Parts: sequence; C-alpha cells; structure tokens
Amino acid sequence: MTFQEDARITVTALQAFADQALEHEAPVLVQPQIGQLARDLEIESLIAEGGLEGPRLMQFLEKYLAASTRLHHPRCMAHQVAVPVSQGALAALVDGFTNNAMAIYEMGPAAAAVEQTVVNWMLGKIGWREGAGALTHGGSLANLTALLAARAQLVPRAWEEGTIYGYVLVCTPGSHYSVERAAAIMGLGSKRVRYAPTDALGRLDPEALPGFLDQLRAKGTTPLAVVANGGSTALGLYDPIRDIAAVCRDQGVWLHVDGAHGASVLLSSRLRHLMAGVEEAQSVVWDGHKLLRSPTLCAAVLIRDPHALDGAFQEEASYLFHDKEQPGVDFIHRTVECTKAALGLKIFFSIAHSGERAIAAHIERQTDLAKEAAALLRATPEIEVAVEPETNIVCFRVAGPDELQLAIRKRLTARGDYYISTAEALGRRWLRLALMNPATTISDITALRSEVVKIASAKP
Ligand SMILES: *Cc1c(COP(=O)(O)O)cnc(C)c1O
Repeated sequence: MTFQEDARITVTALQAFADQALEHEAPVLVQPQIGQLARDLEIESLIAEGGLEGPRLMQFLEKYLAASTRLHHPRCMAHQVAVPVSQGALAALVDGFTNNAMAIYEMGPAAAAVEQTVVNWMLGKIGWREGAGALTHGGSLANLTALLAARAQLVPRAWEEGTIYGYVLVCTPGSHYSVERAAAIMGLGSKRVRYAPTDALGRLDPEALPGFLDQLRAKGTTPLAVVANGGSTALGLYDPIRDIAAVCRDQGVWLHVDGAHGASVLLSSRLRHLMAGVEEAQSVVWDGHKLLRSPTLCAAVLIRDPHALDGAFQEEASYLFHDKEQPGVDFIHRTVECTKAALGLKIFFSIAHSGERAIAAHIERQTDLAKEAAALLRATPEIEVAVEPETNIVCFRVAGPDELQLAIRKRLTARGDYYISTAEALGRRWLRLALMNPATTISDITALRSEVVKIASAKP
C-alpha cells in the first residue's frame, strides 16, 4: 500500500469516528481492561512482524478508535481539552511527516516562522508590542518556564548554585497543581508555596495581598512571584488581575498570570474584560489546545521583558549554541525541550481555517451555553450550582454528601453515555462540566440533569 492509500484509509476512519459520535451512535467513552485491550489491538505481534497497512491498518484503526474517548460526542463534557478543528489535526500530520525538529532555525525555518508569528500574535492580544515567548508542550511546562524566568531575574545565581533558600511562591488553593510542581522542580520545595488570602469564591483578594506580602517578608522570606489565575481550573473564575498587578508593581514582585485555560478570552471583545490588566503582568501562559481548538499539545509562555526569557535557561550545548549569523531564530534557548514539534503549526492551522473571529465566536458560544446550563441546573430543586460561570466551566452538586457526587460520576462514566468530571472547590466536591464541544447543546444538559437526578434518587 502506498502512503496515500493508507492516509485515505486513516482519514476515512477518523471522519467516521467523529460522525458516529455526533450522531450518538457510539458511547462517549469505554474503558476496557488494559491488558485485554492491548491483546485485542495485537500490538505486540504488529511490533514483531509489521504489516500495519491496507486492510490490517483499517482493522487496527477500527479497534483503536472504538476504545478511544470521543471528544466529538456532544455529551463529552469532562475536561478542558479542545475538540480540534479537523483541519487543525492536519498540522500534526504535516509536522509528523516533515519532522522539522525546530530547536534551531536551520532545522525548520517555516515552522519557526509560524511559531514566531503565532507568539507575536498572542503577545499582541495581551497588548505587548515588545515581549518574547515560545511554545511548549503544554501549560505545565509553560508555567515552569515563566517561573524560571522570574527566578532568573530575582536570583540569577540560582541557576548555578541550585536550591535557593528564603524564597516563596504565592498563589491560591485554586491554582493548577503545575504551579506547586514548578516550585518543587525549581528546588524551592512544594512547602515554599504560600496561599494568598482569597474572597468567598476563592479568588485572590488584592486588598489583603499587600499585608500578606509584608507578613512573608517579616518572616524573612521573599516572594519570587505571585501567580494569578486567568481562569482557575476547577471553577473557571478569574482573579482580579488589574488590582493584583497594582500591588505587585508597588511591591516589586513578578506577577505571573496562568491563563492556560482562560487567556483565550482575549480574542473576544465581549469577554476580554475578564483578563483586564493582564498587560501589567510580567508573564502569561496561554494554551492552544483548550479554547483555541488546536490539537494537543501547544502552550505559549509569554514574557513582557524580552530579555527575561533568555535568563530562564542559561546552559551551554556547544554543538547547537554557537554564535552564528542566521536569518532566523533558535527557540532552543527558551524552552525545556531540545527537539520540539512544530507547535505553532497546530495553533495556526486551527485558527487559520476560519479566522480568529470564528474562534472568538466559539468561546462566546461556549460561555453562553455554560450560563444557560447553570440557570437550568439552578432551577432544579435538588441541585446547587457553585458559582455563576465566567467561561465554559460549570460546577454543580446534587443535595447529599461528597460521596454521592463521586458515585454519580462513576455511574455515568461506567455507562459511557455521558462523560463529566468532578472537582474540589470551596471546601466541597462538585460535578463539573467543561463545555468544550461546539456540538453540545442545552438539550444535552437537560438530558444530563434528568440522569443525574434519577441516579441520585435511585435506591443504593
Ligand atoms: C490546563 C491548565 C494547566 C495545565 O496545562 P497543560 O497544558 O494541561 O499542561 C495549567 N493551568 C491551568 C489554569 C489550566 O487550566
């Protein structure tokens, strides 16, 4: 079989996978036992003998896709991963085929040009005309990179001398766990993460922040950075960035905005107020594979001071890093990764298919749907909604203990006709919807509500 024939087989199988999901002809998810699944897929024998082409490829894809979670299904509402624009996935094919490992310019000029332009487009959306950035394999690495840049500016010797003492990282209990991981990886230690005071909904409280930072200093510790949520993970709420930025400026503290999920509202004239003041921050993280509808993984780390990012990684690799006159840029100085996929291409293909206004409309639609879903759920006597949604995330619970919420999710997931997640926030466990799918409508939420109520009221 030729590559083109196998490619046709693959694309046909993928289209059927999406179509079945859209028509509710297949479950959202199934979870076979992994050992049995590996045997059914004949993975070991294919590795040993080859032959994954033509009819065998078709057969493999059928089984593979049958055991793949269908993000295209309108009742897939669990996690903050995009249903990619289909043409966006073609970027992954182009990237995989050309394999232009673009750590250095000469290994992928076109990929580097796309990445640099996409990064500049994102910097522009923040309102930074200067600035530097890079794309990384995910928001977690991007958060680490931004915090390394913060550390390099405050304590440049930390790179060579290792563990640094007396510094703390300030965030909130609602911050993504990658912030605490970054503290541990950087050698600060996870115990050096300090939670700033929050309001009743868990948003960082700018009024209490100056006193809190003073207290940290009085105890002999120096804040390395304050991390604000540009859309918290569990509830999707935005910290008041402008007011936090004013405090950080007064105190000379680096402000990092974790906008992995929520920075995409910068595209919408209606929603960008949620990120108001972001241009006053020192760094921002923004994922493409969440609300920009790009395939995984592509996240941007964006830094206001163009030189600060170069400080994040100060190592030598003589075969790669040598002064050279060249017409482009090397991203290798700016990321944890050496070899890197053409991440910009994934964002670019996803947005360029219909243009940025279409993505903005998508974000607005999903936000409207979340508000409508919250109203519908709130109108149900046995259901409580955590907060009025600011983006596309809705948290709710059925009257009863935390265990009941977990039991409801477990039941739905085992059946496979709905896929939702749960999250802890405000001291309790909630059922959580991340409405990423443009095919999800309010009738899917109505149907989910009936199922949830039915499961809750069934005798155990
Ligand atoms: C998703 C998310 C992350 C992690 O990003 P990955 O791309 O999954 O590594 C970090 N912070 C926030 C607020 C997120 O929503």
